[in-house]
Amino acid sequence: MKPGSPHRRPLVVANWKMNFTPGEASDFAGRLLALLAKRGPGWIEALDLAIAPAHPALDRLRGALSGSDVQLAAQNLHPAAQGAYTGEVSLAMLEDLGCRFVLIGHSERRHLFGEDDEFIAAKASRLVGSSVRPILCVGETLEEREAGETLDRVTRQLAAVLDATGDGLASQLVVAYEPVWAIGTGRTATPDDAQAVHAEIRKNLIEHFGESGRQTRILYGGSVKPSNVRELLAQPDLDGALVGGARLDPEAFASIALASLEKS
Ligand code: PEP
Repeated sequence: MKPGSPHRRPLVVANWKMNFTPGEASDFAGRLLALLAKRGPGWIEALDLAIAPAHPALDRLRGALSGSDVQLAAQNLHPAAQGAYTGEVSLAMLEDLGCRFVLIGHSERRHLFGEDDEFIAAKASRLVGSSVRPILCVGETLEEREAGETLDRVTRQLAAVLDATGDGLASQLVVAYEPVWAIGTGRTATPDDAQAVHAEIRKNLIEHFGESGRQTRILYGGSVKPSNVRELLAQPDLDGALVGGARLDPEAFASIALASLEKS
C-alpha cells in the first residue's frame, strides 16, 4: 500500500450459486478451515472472507463455520419486509441466520430473472441500517463493451442504488465490478482495464459520499483464479474478489484468499 492511501481491508467472497447441498457445504467448510489453519493464527484479522451458499445451506454452513472468522453471505433477498412472495427470502431471515453480506444485482439475477435497476435499488433500500451489507454487482455485457459503453453502463447501475439510498449505505456498501463477458467464461479483464472501471466507480462513490467514498470496497469478479488474483489485486482500486468458478474447490479458494493478504 502506498503511504497515505486509504486502508481498505481486502474482502474475498465465494459465490456458490446453485451448487452444494447443506451436507456438501459443511464438508467444504471443514476442508477450507483445515487449509486456512495451516497458515497459523492471526492472519484473518487482515482480511474479510465470506461464503455465499444457496439459501438452504445457510444454516448448516453457519454451524460448520462457527468459531472461525469466515463470514456468511447470502445470494439474494427480496425488497419487501415479509408477505406473499412465494420462493423469496427476507432481510429478517438473513439477519436471523447471521448473514453479514448479501449479493444484489448479480448479472445472473439481472439477465436470467429479469431484475432491473429499480428492483435492485429497492433491495438496497431495504438493507439501509441493517446488519447485512449489500455487495452490489455491476458490469457491462460484451456488446456494451464493444460499443464503448462500459463506464456509462456501470455508472448507471451504481447511480440507481445511490440515488435511492442517499447516504444510507455510506458505511455498508460493497461494490463488485463483474464484466458479464468474464463471468464463468475463463476470460478475465486485464488488470489495467479492470482498474479503469474501478477508478470510475471510486470517482462516483466520492462524488456521492464525499471522502468516505474512499473507504468503500470495490471487488473484482469474473474468472478470478489463483493464477491471476495477484496481478488483479495489485491495482490500487481492486480491494478484493468475488469468486465464482474457483469457489467450488477449497484449495483454489483458500489460495485466492491467502494471495489477497498481500494486498493488506
Ligand atoms: C460470479 O458469478 O460472481 C463470478 C465471478 O463467477 P466466475 O468466477 O465463475 O466468473
